[in-house]
Amino acid sequence: MSLASGPGRALGGSPDQQLCSQKHVDYIKNLDSRRDELEYWLTEHLRLNGVYWGLTALHLLGCPEGLPREDTVDFVLSCRRDNGGFGAAPGHDAHMLYTVSAVQILVLMDALDELETRGLGGRQKVGSFIAGLQDKDTGAFMGDEWGEQDTRFLYGAFNALSLMDLLGMVDVSKSVAYVQRCENLDGGYGIRPGAESHAGQIFTCVGALAIAGRLDLVNKDRLGGWLSERQVDKGGLNGRPEKLEDACYSWWVGASLAMIDRLHWLDGGKLASFILRCQDPEAGGFSDRPGHMVDVFHTHFAIAGLSLLKYDGVEELYAESNNN
Ligand SMILES: [Zn+2]
Repeated sequence: MSLASGPGRALGGSPDQQLCSQKHVDYIKNLDSRRDELEYWLTEHLRLNGVYWGLTALHLLGCPEGLPREDTVDFVLSCRRDNGGFGAAPGHDAHMLYTVSAVQILVLMDALDELETRGLGGRQKVGSFIAGLQDKDTGAFMGDEWGEQDTRFLYGAFNALSLMDLLGMVDVSKSVAYVQRCENLDGGYGIRPGAESHAGQIFTCVGALAIAGRLDLVNKDRLGGWLSERQVDKGGLNGRPEKLEDACYSWWVGASLAMIDRLHWLDGGKLASFILRCQDPEAGGFSDRPGHMVDVFHTHFAIAGLSLLKYDGVEELYAESNNN
């Protein structure tokens, strides 16, 4: 992977625009202490995802021990339902998206075995919940028993199953064929066959193909062209033509380009500078665009974007690519 600023060269901010790492670490660590604030309760349906975003951001900021391990693992396991899936918070119905976050958190905390030792049926039980959501005819996945299908759920299933080494529980080739049917003439992918291209869905489709080892099916130049056109004059990226830039697309677009080895088609310096303008240098955290309210979702994806760009002081993560 290389960048517009030169292969392997780390990007640093200008002196007036540095990453306020400690502020962000404090912001994330304090999120759980704000239980008396209305915002905390209004976002209860996102709780398990929020823990994953916060924990990953802490890892990328070099503070992997930032959340208390035992409390965090206990909380994750308290969200587990009898069917093997996980809800957003204790008592909530199981859903693919929260199940994926639960698996990711347990893997990050090296606690997957606790599913076994605490008598919860082990990873196999979680795998059966996920595998049960695959449409056996099309290869697509539902988010829950109510049946809505979305390429996000297909990627989530592949992500969680591969982390647990259980990808063999589903029909991978049928899902791969389904993803191919979601490809559009512009090179992008949509939420389902025939739906318009969207950067978030492109990430999920290309990510699923990467996990399946089938990136050879992607038209890399055509997709890379569409993705690189997402960069606007201000340096940030949008998710679709004519839309506003948003820090979270630094990840959806950037990681997709990294997987097809076209990340250098973006101006990495301009993107890093846009992301840094989205941080709150006083209270910590990142927002979707400069001057807006920060939240843990955008904090995670902004920092992940800086990581892709090999920004100084952010741990590097690895988006899979096949060097074509
Ligand atoms: Zn966003």
